[in-house]
Amino acid sequence: MAGMLYLVPTPIGNLGDISSRCRETLEQADFIAAEDTRVSLKLLNHLGIKKSLVSYFEHNKAAKGNVIVERILAGETCALVSDAGSPAISDPGEDLVRQCAQAGITVCAIPGPCAVITALSISGQSTGRFCFEGFLSTAKKSRKEHLDSLVTETRTMVFYEAPHKLLSTLEDMAAVFGSDRPISLCRELTKLHEEVVRTTLGDAVAKYTETPPKGEFVLVVAGAPAAEKEKATLADAAARVTELMESGMSRKDAVKQAAKELDLPKNAVYDAALDE
Ligand code: SAM
Repeated sequence: MAGMLYLVPTPIGNLGDISSRCRETLEQADFIAAEDTRVSLKLLNHLGIKKSLVSYFEHNKAAKGNVIVERILAGETCALVSDAGSPAISDPGEDLVRQCAQAGITVCAIPGPCAVITALSISGQSTGRFCFEGFLSTAKKSRKEHLDSLVTETRTMVFYEAPHKLLSTLEDMAAVFGSDRPISLCRELTKLHEEVVRTTLGDAVAKYTETPPKGEFVLVVAGAPAAEKEKATLADAAARVTELMESGMSRKDAVKQAAKELDLPKNAVYDAALDE
């Protein structure tokens, strides 16, 4: 009889957040697949659990996934953990879940700590409809394309970001979404220095220019006002800039006019026109 794969969420800061069901699952599993075995070993020591660990992370997941699937098919039960939070959410695991499902293995996700949901619920932004955008790319071009694709998004948007990239991300967001757009910066959730800064993109840029950010952040950005849904896209704006330039206008004036006509932020129109 085949075993099972359990997805076991672990605390994102406060060790008290491990549930009794997660603890029991870790105790009862035949083996634990962990993103970083050193990190998970610390948690297991804290819980007083001794268990065989195998590493499963971004750069070995193709080969390790097959080994894990074989072991489960042979009857073992595997608990998958990541460094913190819910496995498979911006963490290795997504592929393993797919592989197991394809092999007919039962996958059981235990609910628990997850940075997206914790941040969203504390953000004060609309939570009825939201989209999770994960990490933006580090490459300037794809990062810009990602943000441009969200310019008319009306749902609340949730992003993960590392502290050293936070300021440039906020600057890019302010250029695309406008500096008045509300944002909640949720920092060090469940930890000693937990903080939620509910502000605008422009003020957030000013704040973190003055005091460099530290710690882990989730960014919860308000969606575009519903009326803007029908608004022209940046691609329309770029096309309009080209048209105006072809009629003899300078790029600067064409951008200014297109931004005004289509009611879009000037910087975003300028960048879109350059990309075009
Ligand atoms: N799978 C995890 C989850 O669902 O909670 C997320 C893992 S992802 C690799 C790590 C990112 O989650 C961090 O860069 C940060 O954006 C966010 N994060 C994790 N723990 C956090 C915390 N305690 N406070 C704020 N953000 C956190």
